[in-house]
Amino acid sequence: MSRRSHDGAAGAIPVLTSDFRPSPYWLDEAPLIPANDPLPERVDVAVIGSGYCGLSAARVLARAGVSTLVLDAGDPGAGASTRNHGHIGGGGKLPPKLDAQVGTERATLIRRDAVESVAFVRALIRDERLDVDYVQRGRFIAAHSPGAFAGLQRRAEAFRTGLGLTVGIIPRERQREEIGSDFYYGGITVAEAGALQPAKLHGAMRRLAEDAGAQVRGQARVQSIGREGSGFRLETARGVVHADKVVVATNAYSGAVTPYIQRRIVPVTAFMIATEPMPEELAQEALPRNRTGGDTKRALYAFRRSPDGRRIVFAGRAKFHDIDERRAAAILHRFMCGVWPQLAGVRVSHCWKGFVGFTFDHLPHMGEHEGLHYAAGCQGAGVAMMSYLGDQIGLKILGRQARPCGLDTAQFPTLPTYRGRPWFLPIVGGYYTLRDRLDRALARRA
Ligand SMILES: Cc1cc2nc3c(=O)[nH]c(=O)nc-3n(C[C@H](O)[C@H](O)[C@H](O)COP(=O)(O)OP(=O)(O)OC[C@H]3O[C@@H](n4cnc5c(N)ncnc54)[C@H](O)[C@@H]3O)c2cc1C
Repeated sequence: MSRRSHDGAAGAIPVLTSDFRPSPYWLDEAPLIPANDPLPERVDVAVIGSGYCGLSAARVLARAGVSTLVLDAGDPGAGASTRNHGHIGGGGKLPPKLDAQVGTERATLIRRDAVESVAFVRALIRDERLDVDYVQRGRFIAAHSPGAFAGLQRRAEAFRTGLGLTVGIIPRERQREEIGSDFYYGGITVAEAGALQPAKLHGAMRRLAEDAGAQVRGQARVQSIGREGSGFRLETARGVVHADKVVVATNAYSGAVTPYIQRRIVPVTAFMIATEPMPEELAQEALPRNRTGGDTKRALYAFRRSPDGRRIVFAGRAKFHDIDERRAAAILHRFMCGVWPQLAGVRVSHCWKGFVGFTFDHLPHMGEHEGLHYAAGCQGAGVAMMSYLGDQIGLKILGRQARPCGLDTAQFPTLPTYRGRPWFLPIVGGYYTLRDRLDRALARRA
């Protein structure tokens, strides 16, 4: 058996293609477009962060005639909104014991928000005729152990009753209908889940905001925010902007300029790879129904086929600290071949990383603190949710919300000593990985 190598050393089968890129596969087709025009001096609303959230807020505000400026530290879209997996759930990524955590009344509102967030982004795609490779083929959630399969069966009931989702139970004997692998112990399917090309969605949302009259500017990191009468003075890398209102949409990329958010978000690095194109039969064998997929491990894997069906796009926690993309690619390739040994000869053409924003109560949040409107923390499920919360912030500023959002609350927990640097992640990550391995080892012995 030949040794595999991530650098293509002599005698080894290279894991990386010769034209390997340490950047998102999605950007090949929908590259970031710089926005380097000068900044306006004064606007009604300044939005910090040009991901789905910021652009969604800008769109609704600009359509209402509010002068709106979106500022990003990098080129517009530099954050998670062009780096994600493009999976849109049915609204199911909420803490399993939500009612006990926040009380039934608020839990009901939050579940409604979760369902509405998906409806919002689907309606956006449909009504604005967005060309974002959206398909609704459902999702397969795979159990990493028999215990996890039992847990999924219990969650299936909550998905059906709480969120109105169409859930199928797939025992291990039928698993190959969903995935060409014996790695898992069965799973469930959620029919309402869909997938899209995330960078195309970002580009389309930027066009919508700009067409509505919003100005989008890149390379304009906001370095300080100060009060100025009833408004704000923002110092940016490209000069000063005065704004009546400010929206903070920096999510997992939040820094010291917004310490309130930074102290409440745990940024976790997530790595992804895309393989080179493979023969269609092989991709078909790996994911026969071409659904998106994920598993129940604490250090989870997520997977899908590319929109053209020819590649596998695979995500996992290559490490719980920052490493470079070539090293991450080799680790994720190994993880991927653990699930699908038949992909051992398929090389990795792209590897990239992005930050996922976790919160201490496992809930996304929106709200207002010291006059700054914000939304943040989507636990890795923000394509629909952050787009929706951005829209909700815009509507709130306009005084046009149909009802208060269940995620809009002053209770946004942090830890007394936490300042935004998650020093504990390698420890927690190591524990998670150990527990996952233990679950699987016990399953193999049973
Ligand atoms: C690898 C990965 C896979 C994921 N997969 C999925 C998935 O399949 N489905 C799903 O629903 N969600 C997924 N997510 C989560 C989803 O991508 C995010 O929730 C969503 O994109 C967040 O959008 P946002 O607008 O809130 O923030 P972002 O898109 O992260 O935008 C924040 C922006 O703020 C900017 N910024 C930060 N500080 C400043 C400053 N001081 N001044 C100016 N600009 C600043 C950053 O440059 C950045 O562009 C994934 C995330 C990652 C990283």
